[in-house]
Amino acid sequence: MNEKPEYLIKNGKRLDGRKPEELREIKMRTGVVSNADGSAMVSFGKTKVIAAVYGPREVHPRHLLLPDRALLRAWYDMFSFSVEDRKRPGPGRREIEISKVLTEALRSVVFLEKFPRTAIDIFIAVVQADASTRVTGLNAAALALADAGIPMKDLVTAVSFGKVYDEKGKEHMVVDVFKPEDNWGLADVAYAVTPNFGEILLLQMDGNLTREELFTGKRMADEAVRKIYRQQVKALKDKYLEGLE
Ligand code: UDP
Repeated sequence: MNEKPEYLIKNGKRLDGRKPEELREIKMRTGVVSNADGSAMVSFGKTKVIAAVYGPREVHPRHLLLPDRALLRAWYDMFSFSVEDRKRPGPGRREIEISKVLTEALRSVVFLEKFPRTAIDIFIAVVQADASTRVTGLNAAALALADAGIPMKDLVTAVSFGKVYDEKGKEHMVVDVFKPEDNWGLADVAYAVTPNFGEILLLQMDGNLTREELFTGKRMADEAVRKIYRQQVKALKDKYLEGLE
């Protein structure tokens, strides 16, 4: 969609037919990369991300070694063919920034002090993008860490929310932003929390929201977090129940 649409929501339905608080179809699976210590695939509609964890393992380069804790690093990358207009391969400014905020969010939940002098590397690959890739990547990374058996104080559950306009120009908050809403919406927010403690690990906004709108969006996102978290737990259990039934 290259031209600004007349509206992003009409009669309470978004362009893909969803209600404001409705999530896209979510799929989650762990153990998808056999060479990794832990891995997961998460898709929100057409946005699809694979995360693979390697470690705790030896630190390279050696000068980055931390004597009292593990060095956790996350790399976010988007495949050239994951988007409509081919993306130049390799990390640009955007990928470097996203890797940084995802690394910081994940460092807050892992018990890094249990693995001094080691590295925990997390590769987050967007194989198909329809917006909200960083939050989908965080959900996948948290699952991959849990799948690797790395102790964490909680999982990380993430979702986006945003503000869109209807045919009369009235504004509405929505959850789980997809591409047209990301392109043409009035604001979008990437939001991640520890699902059991409600500690905010990521809050990044594009556009403008009033305080009230931000809190409405957060309330809707917290509701979504509960649903996403249930699916994360199920994805973790499923792998271990496979073959037992
Ligand atoms: N996108 C794209 N080409 C790019 C970067 C992004 O088509 O080089 C699209 C992609 O669908 C992505 C969306 O724009 O999901 C929104 O990107 P943003 O930087 O807002 O991050 P995200 O919402 O994916 O976390």
